[in-house]
Amino acid sequence: MGLNDSSPGAMRNGRGLSDQWAESVVVRPRTTERHITVHKRLVLGFALSILTLIVVTAVAVVLSVRFEECGEQSRDGGAAGEPGSRGSGGSARLNGSRGERTGERGDEEAAQPWRNSRLPGTLRPRHYDLRLAVHMDNFTFSGEVSIELECINATRFIVLHADRLEVDRVSVSSEGGGGGGRSSNRPGGGVMRVHRHFPFPANQMYVVVLHRELKPMRTYRLNVSFDAAIEDELLGFFRSSYMMNRERRYLAVTQFSPIHARKAFPCFDEPVYKATFSLALRHDAQYTSLSNMPVESSSLEDEDGWLTNRFARTPRMSTYYLAWAVCNFTYRETQTDGGVTIRLYARPDAISSGAGDYALHITKRLLGFYQDYFKVQYSLPKLDLLAVPKHPYAAMENWGLSVFVEQKILLDAEVSSSSYQMELTMVVVHEICHQWFGDLVTPVWWEDVWLKEGFAHFFEYVGTDFLFPKWNMEKQRFLTDVLHEVMLLDGLSSSHPISQEVEQATDINRVFDWIAYKKGAALIRMLANVMGQPLFQKGLNDYLLSHMYSNAARDDLWSKLSQAMRSEGRDINIGEMMDRWTLQMGYPVVTISKNQSEQLPTHYITVSQEHFLYAQEVRGNNSLQWQVPLTVAVGNESALSAERLIWINNKTETHRVGQMDDSTWLLGNINQTGYFRVNYDLQNWKLLIQQLHTSPQIISVGNRAGLIDDAFNLARAGYLPQGIPLQLIGYLPEETSFLPWHAASRALYQLDKLLDRTEEYSLFSDYVLKQVASRYHQMGWPTNGPGNEGNILQASYQTEELQRELIMLACSFGNKQCHRQAVAYISDWISSNKNRIPPNIRDIVYCTGVSLMDEDVWEFIWMKFHSTGAISEKKILLEALTCSDNTFLLNRLLSLSVSPRLLNLSLSSDLVPEQDVIDVIIHVGRNPQGRSLAWRYFREKWDVLNARYGEALFMNSKLISGVTEFLNTERELNEKVFAAVTLKFNEETQRRRRSGRRGHAPRTACSTVRHIAVATQPASVTPSIHQRKNSSRSNGWM
Ligand SMILES: [Zn+2]
Repeated sequence: MGLNDSSPGAMRNGRGLSDQWAESVVVRPRTTERHITVHKRLVLGFALSILTLIVVTAVAVVLSVRFEECGEQSRDGGAAGEPGSRGSGGSARLNGSRGERTGERGDEEAAQPWRNSRLPGTLRPRHYDLRLAVHMDNFTFSGEVSIELECINATRFIVLHADRLEVDRVSVSSEGGGGGGRSSNRPGGGVMRVHRHFPFPANQMYVVVLHRELKPMRTYRLNVSFDAAIEDELLGFFRSSYMMNRERRYLAVTQFSPIHARKAFPCFDEPVYKATFSLALRHDAQYTSLSNMPVESSSLEDEDGWLTNRFARTPRMSTYYLAWAVCNFTYRETQTDGGVTIRLYARPDAISSGAGDYALHITKRLLGFYQDYFKVQYSLPKLDLLAVPKHPYAAMENWGLSVFVEQKILLDAEVSSSSYQMELTMVVVHEICHQWFGDLVTPVWWEDVWLKEGFAHFFEYVGTDFLFPKWNMEKQRFLTDVLHEVMLLDGLSSSHPISQEVEQATDINRVFDWIAYKKGAALIRMLANVMGQPLFQKGLNDYLLSHMYSNAARDDLWSKLSQAMRSEGRDINIGEMMDRWTLQMGYPVVTISKNQSEQLPTHYITVSQEHFLYAQEVRGNNSLQWQVPLTVAVGNESALSAERLIWINNKTETHRVGQMDDSTWLLGNINQTGYFRVNYDLQNWKLLIQQLHTSPQIISVGNRAGLIDDAFNLARAGYLPQGIPLQLIGYLPEETSFLPWHAASRALYQLDKLLDRTEEYSLFSDYVLKQVASRYHQMGWPTNGPGNEGNILQASYQTEELQRELIMLACSFGNKQCHRQAVAYISDWISSNKNRIPPNIRDIVYCTGVSLMDEDVWEFIWMKFHSTGAISEKKILLEALTCSDNTFLLNRLLSLSVSPRLLNLSLSSDLVPEQDVIDVIIHVGRNPQGRSLAWRYFREKWDVLNARYGEALFMNSKLISGVTEFLNTERELNEKVFAAVTLKFNEETQRRRRSGRRGHAPRTACSTVRHIAVATQPASVTPSIHQRKNSSRSNGWM
């Protein structure tokens, strides 16, 4: 690192000079004294005066020399002997401020704009010239950035972001000035004299104080040179590694979202400060480098073998999706009809095995799909997809260079399950959507992060339907995986509005939560359905065109959508309607009842709304109201009427519907397009249940799933007797579609958790097994072996998913035949060393096997985990290891994951890839036998984990964020609290505690299997980010 090399020399040089002067000061008086011959007193007095004078002069000279050195060092890139400039707060460097630091402290101290958490807004960056030299041998980099600034309001302060950077030199010039770093101290020539510059770590800012004000409407140039480390932590510009031919290889890549660009270069690191970027990367020629734009020119320096890649200038963009990477990956590429080059970069062995081909193929189709849908072309000449072994999130949507963790983009078609493929597909669809929603048009500020994340999450379903129409994602899977999922969370009194105020940097990570992603997606879907597809599309097109290369807030979107509606003569104030949904937390339960009033005929209904909350005790102050687009239809044994849209704006309203009699029933929220629950009078529930038992097909698949989810949750919250949902699922043996089964199983696993260890448990599990048995036996087990390429591209996805769901339920709740089948598969694998287990159910079989069979099976799975090269297979083998009932084995797994040496085993630290360690802890924590173990482990190994993951740890999983959330508020942590945090079911836990339901656990051998069942339910429940967290399927409250 340049900094360390130069600083000791500078120090030595400085000391040498001052020592010479110091010696002369001491020596000279003595010499004078030796020659005294007359009148000692007089001479002594004279000598003393001389001595004093000499001392004063010498001190002055020494000081001036030191001063000079200080300025020289700053200009020449020396460190001025203070390696810790970061954190030194106000200990400013006196950069060229000889004798001129007077009389200006007053206004400075009064203003201090760096003390605000947000940038002051007095300056706007227009263009960055960024040059970086990347040292992969010692993991450091040094950079120079030259920022063209436009002054908005007069100011003496340049305040921008910088974090963990060692700033060497700073200079400022006005437009037309020299702009070079060397001229900062010279007056004239456009150079602005810098008074001082210093970091302000509390706000991750860097401050440059000038002597004179920058003037509005003028342009200036700020030059900064700096050094930094390529961190091990997964943020900013970080390093990662993989094994290739038994040799460790390194790569370095960026993760800037949301606030980590400042760790790589000084910049205005808020999304609204869009600018263009010209990047040049210099590195050893054995590496290649990538960035958002293609390489424009490349030059090789003969003497040191280093390569400089200059990338084309970007369009206007925010800092958080700027990106670069230095690696020695290889790639495969394809081209769209419009001439956009798409490349997938990954480890050479993954590329040669073809593991990236699937993602490359769907990306090409998706670019076409989005261009057609949005009617806005993809903006850049190329799109690279980079598969990295380690990343804090599933993926990051950097414009033109999207980064994915390997498990979310590499696919081994032969061994990957359909759910793995579906999950991977959706991550890709999500990130490509961001190239428009997020990159082309960016939210003004993080409070509206849902604007980009909600859209990307919604389009995961729409885009996947385009790729695989048979999957029917938007009409079906969306309901269980998004709508039901988030309503569960948003019904808690601890929920929050989707638009959240964000000020401090530390708050920003918090906004990337399920509410932003899933509620955002659910509200957008509701709106799309109210508007109708053509108008919705028209509004989006207008929104994108109006705000491209710029920023937008939610009101900008509402106004474009309202305009689209008005163009068709439909005058709905979308802003007014949506503010209710985005600025208020939670959602309503809408109760529909046939009007019993004597005065009104029976074809009137009464509709009321109230804030749905699970906790009955907090329902009192119930002032929230919504504008609810309620669709209603009337049905009987043989038919369902056309749906009708009714707007509910008040607490209670009366509406006229079609003809009704005693045998007709009402159905609300047709196809569950609305973000609310529907309740009915008991008579209507009974008629609906009867209908489901006799002829379920009259009610759509979406509504069948919706009725199940609503009934279970209404009962849980006390709006409905518990018997209703259990009677409702009594029709399941007749159910042939996947979705209602999926909705039911989600509800059943939740009940299972609540009833676990209670006396009622066996009654409950018997009931579930009875419901499952006939359909389970009818569907059987998949017959295709691993060699069969009958993956979901061809096969009937819905059938496979239903079969999988039934096997999961059967094995989880202890169906003996299911257990025997799983054990037989494992035994066959061990004895023949051939894995004949169909990929789609491997996770269930592995987990059941580990749970039911002896320790040798655990060892066998552990061995297979190490020997397999397939990413998807590795993942489920590791998960299976957490299914053991044996706490010794669970403990061993945790120890091996985090610190192998603890067990005194001479094993390398690569036993469990770092990317998976968090997953291991989460999965062990979900295992009832491992819960307390995981929590204790988490506490004890906090330092190790923190050192390894640092800041990324806090974003890495629901478990961690849940735990840390709790750490802030509660000192007394125990296993029960851990459970509460993990499950996110605080209210439920309290209720259980109150009712004192504990007692002995009627444990069955399969109890640990259920945690995998729960964990793998919604395949797309990939926690956050664009920002989707890497531990997929890690459902927050499980
Ligand atoms: Zn996203």
